[in-house]
Amino acid sequence: MGPADLNHIDCWIFDLDNTLYSGDVNFFAQIDKKMTAFLSRYLSLPPAEARIIQKQYLVEYGTTLSGLMAVHNMDPAEYLHYVHDIDLDVLAPDPKLYTALESLPGRKFIFTNGSRTHAKNVGEHLNIYGLFDGIFAIEDIDYVPKPKRAPYEQFVKAFDIDPAYAFMAEDSVRNLEVPKEMGMATLLITSDEDWSHEPKESRPHDGENVPDHVDMHTNDLARWLLALR
Ligand SMILES: [Mg+2]
Repeated sequence: MGPADLNHIDCWIFDLDNTLYSGDVNFFAQIDKKMTAFLSRYLSLPPAEARIIQKQYLVEYGTTLSGLMAVHNMDPAEYLHYVHDIDLDVLAPDPKLYTALESLPGRKFIFTNGSRTHAKNVGEHLNIYGLFDGIFAIEDIDYVPKPKRAPYEQFVKAFDIDPAYAFMAEDSVRNLEVPKEMGMATLLITSDEDWSHEPKESRPHDGENVPDHVDMHTNDLARWLLALR
């Protein structure tokens, strides 16, 4: 499947972090560091040990947060507030992305493992928030994150989406497996940054040897979407 095969699409779904802004800007690293600091305090562990657990939970549970909730029965509110309290100024609004999203035919959604407030803060900062017909965040999926199947099913039900006419863009390869199984067209956002410090299962992809459930890939979402017109 290529861009030419997307004429039937009437629903455009986007992950947020490292998708609607480039993974090459050092923005998500701030959240990552705050997660480590939170875990270090919450579990009374030195940062280096807290970081190992942070990444273990990410791989095993889909997000670090779900691991904390499953293993420690933690209340998510304080964690979400703490890790998403970051400096947005390193993210620059991209007028090309605004134009590209605005011109897509059909409904547009953000579907994120982050919090509602984070989606709103980042979306507004990027000046694209108003273009979306709906936001589905971790609170909306009962804190059960992608790549698990349940949140995708909740999402398509909530917005009455037919997956056969839907498209999903993501920087996480594993988060595109269920969408493909459901019948969506899938776009992987790749990153030229060196993510080798992240676990292989969860790091943004470098675009080499993409698996079969990925239909298309790009390292520049705005340019790619604009080329559809
Ligand atoms: Mg992401």
